[in-house]
Amino acid sequence: MTYTIEGRTGPWEVVIGLEVHAQVTSQAKLFSGAATEFGAAPNSQVSFVDAGFPGMLPVINQECVAQAVRTGLGLKAEIHLWSRFDRKNYFYADLPQGYQISQFAHPIVGTGTVEITLADGSTKPIGITRLHLEQDAGKSLHDQHPSKSFIDLNRSGVALMEIVSEPDMRSPEEAGAYLTKLRQIVRYLGTCDGNMDEGSMRADVNVSVRKAGEGFRTRCEVKNVNSIRFVMQAVEAEARRQIEVWEEGGTVEQETRLFDTGRGVTRSMRSKEDAHDYRYFPDPDLPPLVLEADWVESLKASLPELPDERRARYVAMGLSPYDAHVLTLERETAAFFEAVASRRDAKTVANWVTGDFFAALNRTGLGIEESPVGAEALGELLDLIADKTINGKIAKDVLAIMFETGERPGAIVDARGLRQVVDTGAIEAAIDQVMAANADKVAEYRSGKEKLFGFFVGQVMKAMQGKGNPALVNEVLKQKLA
Ligand code: ADP
Ligand code: MG
Repeated sequence: MTYTIEGRTGPWEVVIGLEVHAQVTSQAKLFSGAATEFGAAPNSQVSFVDAGFPGMLPVINQECVAQAVRTGLGLKAEIHLWSRFDRKNYFYADLPQGYQISQFAHPIVGTGTVEITLADGSTKPIGITRLHLEQDAGKSLHDQHPSKSFIDLNRSGVALMEIVSEPDMRSPEEAGAYLTKLRQIVRYLGTCDGNMDEGSMRADVNVSVRKAGEGFRTRCEVKNVNSIRFVMQAVEAEARRQIEVWEEGGTVEQETRLFDTGRGVTRSMRSKEDAHDYRYFPDPDLPPLVLEADWVESLKASLPELPDERRARYVAMGLSPYDAHVLTLERETAAFFEAVASRRDAKTVANWVTGDFFAALNRTGLGIEESPVGAEALGELLDLIADKTINGKIAKDVLAIMFETGERPGAIVDARGLRQVVDTGAIEAAIDQVMAANADKVAEYRSGKEKLFGFFVGQVMKAMQGKGNPALVNEVLKQKLA
């Protein structure tokens, strides 16, 4: 079903294309040896090249090129063995060179696809138009001094990948799923850390609206949105604004807008600039970037397993598509799952990890790497169930204690006497006691009210503080009640 927004004149479809800037994970910048670490003191990671000193020459960083190629391969995209850097000219205080080195006419990566997964489990391919390498600009700080602005050039020259999608998305959910998937892919690849709150990934959100069956109408671009939730909100806010413009007889003008996260509306920033405004031309300081096919092949051969492949492998191991999806969202979660599942039944492990373990972890507010219960400890707990030391119900309590105290499950079971009772004598005694206390219900059961069986199981388990072996309790109870 197509997502639509209801206007005065009926339903409207929403069309979305994203341009994502992803900061390349690398030790050094795209054309200089300066460091790229986040959070360093202002202007402490700036070379003469990054500061735009006259006569400095850019030298391409091979690792940044490799990262772009890896990302292109992860997007199932065409790798261009010949690409070229262009100067995109504009003035801004945080751009000391007076131009940004980017790839305009000949990007390093061409068309590809990303498959997104939606809440109902369905999937949809989203086209990738291109990926190109470019430099980041510096940062102006306007809030440090009452009458002065400061400039921090640490980010100046850092390598960015601009990943442009086709206008293939049709709802805020699809835009969110696309960004989630893109972030997942670059994190698996190790080509971008995907930390949107540190600015490592930001999205320009292109939105237009139309009536069913129409071609595309004019779009607007909402700049620099820095979280997945805000992207989804920006799509909806901008679509609603455009619907109102059209319905009032106006025309949507192509322009660049900003999303006001506080008020949940977009506002105009500037009219849309065109390519010719930037006077692009090939950078005379850089020769064309020529890759060897063998080198690209070797990068391809050393790619890590990607999320789609890993998900398929988990389904082949017997997991439900949903569990496989959830467990592969983050590489760390998948690693945790595999550490527990390596010598155990995969489906049981998946149930515990996605169920009680995730619930407990969510209550702590911690990430899986900082979990107070590690993979080894969770594995020990599952082994205690498998070898019938404890039953599944008690195991849930043990897991909660593990999260609270950090103790190992074996120690908890011993110290608190939680071992499952498999001694039939003790089980019989508990059953006799329950039957004696509920003589009326025993009579009812025997006269045909069989659904009382569950009541007896509950009472016996309670009398045994939950430690009875469920199968044995059932079996002995059946005999005694007969
Ligand atoms: P530019 O280079 O001027 O920004 P592009 O053609 O490269 O323009 O498109 C930029 C982004 O806008 C792409 O992600 C594309 O998918 C998206 N886009 C293009 N047309 C539309 C449209 N009608 N509605 C929504 N998004 C669009
Ligand atoms: Mg653009």
